Order: sequence, then C-alpha cells, then structure tokens
Amino acid sequence: MLRVAVVGSGPSGCYTAQHLVQLDPGARVDVLDRLPCPYGLVRYGVAPDHEKIKSLQGSLRTVLEHKRVRFLGAVPVGPGGVPAARLRELYHAVVYCVGAATDRHLGVPGEELPGSWSATEFVSWYSAHPDAADTGFLRGVRSAVVVGVGNVAVDVTRMLARGEGELRPTDMPHTALTALAASEVTEIQMVGRRGPSQARFTTKELRELGTLPDTAVHVDAAEAALDPAFADPSGLPPPRRRNVEVLRGWTAPPRPDARRLIRLRFFLRPVELLAVDGRVGAVRFERTAPDGEGGVTGTGRFEDVEGQLVLRSVGYRGVPLEGLPFDAATGTVPHLAGRVLRGGAVAPGEYVAGWIKRGPTGVIGTNRSCAKETVTSLLQDAPALTARTLPDDPLPALRAEGANPVLWQGWESVERAESRLGASLGRGVVKLPDWESLLTAAREGDGADPRP
Ligand code: NAP
Repeated sequence: MLRVAVVGSGPSGCYTAQHLVQLDPGARVDVLDRLPCPYGLVRYGVAPDHEKIKSLQGSLRTVLEHKRVRFLGAVPVGPGGVPAARLRELYHAVVYCVGAATDRHLGVPGEELPGSWSATEFVSWYSAHPDAADTGFLRGVRSAVVVGVGNVAVDVTRMLARGEGELRPTDMPHTALTALAASEVTEIQMVGRRGPSQARFTTKELRELGTLPDTAVHVDAAEAALDPAFADPSGLPPPRRRNVEVLRGWTAPPRPDARRLIRLRFFLRPVELLAVDGRVGAVRFERTAPDGEGGVTGTGRFEDVEGQLVLRSVGYRGVPLEGLPFDAATGTVPHLAGRVLRGGAVAPGEYVAGWIKRGPTGVIGTNRSCAKETVTSLLQDAPALTARTLPDDPLPALRAEGANPVLWQGWESVERAESRLGASLGRGVVKLPDWESLLTAAREGDGADPRP
C-alpha cells in the first residue's frame, strides 16, 4: 500500500492528496504543514474580502477529511523540524508543495527603510499569519505607493481603499480591522515599470478597483499612451486587450468628491526610496520608454512620488529546501514532470508540485493540473517505490523526531475558537493571529492526540 507525505497543505498540496487517493484506491496520504492551520495561501494569501475564492476552503476541506488523508499541522520539515531525509525513510514518496515562501527584492537603495514593506508582509498582517508582525503599517500614512502591477498589487491597493463597513464582515484579525478602519490614506499610487498592455493583473481583479465605494480611479492618458497599444488595443491578446479597455475607461478626471483616489501609473521604474525623518517619504522613479520588444529602457528623467507607506509587490520567490536541489535563477526545484532532478537524474521518491515546481504564477486552479502531472509520475513509479517495507504508522517516528502534530480535531477546535472570538466581537468568524492562541485552541481539541 502506497504511503505518501505531502509537505504543504495549500491548494497544490491538497490537490496532490486528492489525485493520489482518487487515482490509487489504496494510497494513504499524510499532509504535513508547518502551521497548525491548513489551506496555505487560500487562508493566508487570498484577500479577506474575496469570499468567493476563500470558499474554496470548502473543497480543500473535503480532501483533508478523506478517510485515507490525514492532516498533520505544526510539523516543520527541515532545520529545527523533521529532517527531509527522515521523512523519506518513513514514506514511500514525499511530495513538496511548499509554494514560494518569500518575496522578490527591488535591489534599490532605501528598500529597507521603515515604512517600506513587501506586499507579502502587509498581506500576512491582515490575513492573521502567525509569523506576521504588526509594524504599524498605516501610522501617519496619507499616501501609499504600491510598486508592481500584478494581482497582489491590486489586492493590497484594494485593501488600503476599503472602508470599515466592507472589512467588518471578513475574517480579518481585529487589530488589522481597527487599523484599516482608522486609516487616513487618501491616495494610493500603483506603479508599473512597463506599459498598460504589459501589466500582469487580470481584468476581473482590475475592474473591481472601479467598484470601491467612495474611491475614484484615475489613469493619466498621456502617460499610458506611451504604450502604442493603449490607443489601439485591438491587436492585443484578449486578456491584455480587456485590461487596456478597462484602463481607458479611467482617463476622465477623477470625481473630486471621492474620499480616496487610486492612481494607476506606468513606465516608471523604482531607483531609490527616499527618507524623511528616518522613514520612507517618497519613491524616486526613472521614467522609462518602450523598447519595441515588450521591454523598456531608461530615459534619464526622474519623478519622486510621495508615500509614507511603500508596498513592494514585485512577485514571490521560492526558498531552497534542506536536502533538495534548487535552481536559484528561477527559485524552483528542478524536476521532470514533477520528479525531483538531482544533477540531471531523477531522485527516486521525491516530487514537487505547485509554485516550488513551476514558479509563482497562475491562479489557484492551475495547481490542479500541475498536481495531476506530479501524481501521474508518482503513480508510474509506485511499483518500485512500494517495494520498500515501512512501519505501520509513521506518527510515532515523527513524534520521536520532536514533532507534536495538530491533528484534524485540533484544527476544528481552532475553527470553533475563531467563531467564539468573532461572536465576542460582534463579528462573524475572526482569525486567531498568533502562534500561542492557535496552538492553545488546537491542543484543546486534540483529545485524540495520545502524546503524554
Ligand atoms: P506578478 O503577477 O508576477 O506581478 C509582479 C509585478 O511586479 C509585475 O508588474 C512586474 O513587472 C513587477 N516587477 C517585478 N520586478 C520589478 C522591479 N524590479 N521593479 C518594478 N516592478 C517589478 O506577481 P504577483 O502580483 O505577486 O502575483 C503572483 C501570482 O499570484 C500571479 O499568478 C497572480 O495572478 C496570482 N494572484 C492571483 C490573485 C487573484 O486571482 N485574485 C490574487 C493574488 C495573486 P514586469 O511585468 O515588468 O516584470
């Protein structure tokens, strides 16, 4: 009987587990996560006001509740946790679905000034990630600059513009709700280094910016028109054409009565973050011009954009995993159809799926086909892999390695605690924002955990 460890319980991990139990009627799968909570970026990355995407947790839940799937939360793999080599001994196969855990850097002076944060840090804070720090993101902020024009940039821009009435029904932690509700941000500039037709956001997400209450959106027609496709988008591929059409609709002067203004800027690349009183006060951009091949060149002209908060939203990046090969150029693990490659040769029993396999691109659903490819490879290899006899249950061995897993009952106890917290605040479910409260709630429910 095939026994597999899936490391990571986000969409790619859950889809991997799902394909395994669906395609192999005997397979047993343990889904490990370093956090006590499942669902990865669906819980800690999808914006709290995107309830429809969040509701995907329901289908991921069905996977983790499958009788041949077991969730083991709070089990880190690698340094300080279960060594990857030990995991390999305890299972026939290990599939790493650990995503892209860090953010890319701009590599410009001033990037580390107080007030300059990666979008990931801001997202983690309002998503109640237990590793997130409350850095006082919004204190004294009147205008914000978001660098990058992908969907994460759209998410953080939208969250900065949302009012209390729209945030209160979400599950965001109460401190973040209070801070965002009291925010005095009146202008948010979202800035791309290339043109409108090269922006990475998707049209649905872009269009949503135009629906925010009390918020105007503006695109400077002259600036956007540096992109020849802005005047005539008809030759663009449909997703890009639709983006440009939405942007063209925002060139009229913004409503003067709106409380907040979102400005979408283009052809500006960040060269330095400027300090005012020891904190970031502005971003210096160089004006760029299209090079005719989809890229841009510098023009030697500069513009300073004021902002007491700078969110760098220039993409995620995978981090190396102990004992696994890593391609530093792409931030991914080299693989062949999901099989990990060491020095060009397949490493038996080791697999990858999701962002650590293909890089941080695509929507949640992209992980389904990605996971399926990996599982297909794994099942082809299964006859050789299962020749090895394993102990009945790897749990005692994991515990011997120092792991104290949060089982599914423990997670359900966290869910109950989050409902209670919300009720006490006159809200719906409100997420627990720190390790201590999560683990306390989880252990209350871990009645089934036999560890003394
Ligand atoms: P992304 O789509 O790769 O966008 C990154 C942005 O940063 C691009 O505009 C890129 O510009 C810019 N950039 C990169 N390096 C830069 C630099 N040195 N200086 C200035 N700009 C720079 O990344 P993302 O927004 O983090 O999203 C990651 C993935 O998650 C995407 O597939 C996204 O669609 C997905 N996602 C989806 C949703 C949703 O569906 N609602 C929400 C969030 C995220 P260039 O194009 O010029 O490189």
